[in-house]
Amino acid sequence: MNKVVIVTGASRGIGAETAKLLASQGYSVCVNYLSQHQRAAQVVDEIVTAGGEAFAVQADVSNEAQVAAMFEAVQAKYGTVTHLVNNAGILFTQSKLCDIELERFQTVMNANVTSCFLCCKAFLRQSGTMRAIVNVSSAASRLGAPFEYIDYAASKGAMDSLTKGLSLEVAEQGIRVNGVRPGCIYTEMHADGGEPDRVDRLASSLPLKRGGTAEEVAQSIAWLLSDQASYVTGSFIELAGGR
Ligand code: NAP
Repeated sequence: MNKVVIVTGASRGIGAETAKLLASQGYSVCVNYLSQHQRAAQVVDEIVTAGGEAFAVQADVSNEAQVAAMFEAVQAKYGTVTHLVNNAGILFTQSKLCDIELERFQTVMNANVTSCFLCCKAFLRQSGTMRAIVNVSSAASRLGAPFEYIDYAASKGAMDSLTKGLSLEVAEQGIRVNGVRPGCIYTEMHADGGEPDRVDRLASSLPLKRGGTAEEVAQSIAWLLSDQASYVTGSFIELAGGR
């Protein structure tokens, strides 16, 4: 059976590494992105140069019409989307809760949770055989991210509830839904939080004494999507260096 995957937010970081790894494992990959066309095109180029199949689709995954258009584009090119990685996510400058404006809170919720809801819904409404979803959550859902971004942590907590509930709704259909909870991973996201070197600052406080890599997260996502994880659903892999 053809394996067709959408990886949301795959122009850089964890999404880009996941797209490349999945392509190397034989998936036809949709590299979704929001604004960085060049970076997404570069990910596609790398995949195609290595002999894989991919194309890029610009879509704001918090927008229902754009999610629908993305699924239509992938179905037209590759057929039913059999696997889904809800990876797109954002955070803003480190702040205390009382300094977070309502608009920011709602933007984070939309980008991180509404996007997951919309993509899961579009995925499940297809005809054909759907196999597995992996939602990229965060250790912040357990830790709460005080003094940094409680809005972000709350969005990831909601994502975890969605993962658990949906896994139980679709288990009888043979569709598996799991999550990964990365901790401090070297990506450009920390610059968006106002501290590009955040992972280096925290590394020595982690049990494994180092930050993680996007490749390490991608490996877990790929395993959860694969038939090797055929008896795993409603589960979460912690990728937080022991924290
Ligand atoms: P990143 O480097 O900041 O990349 C974020 C990606 O999401 C980009 O490709 C961006 O697209 C895309 N994106 C953002 N909003 C979008 C939207 N509305 N629609 C479509 N795409 C959107 O992030 P990362 O560090 O790789 O993180 C990936 C995931 O892992 C996120 O969900 C994050 O919360 C989670 N995570 C990361 C860490 C960490 O330490 N890095 C830890 C825990 C969890 P453009 O570039 O095109 O704008």
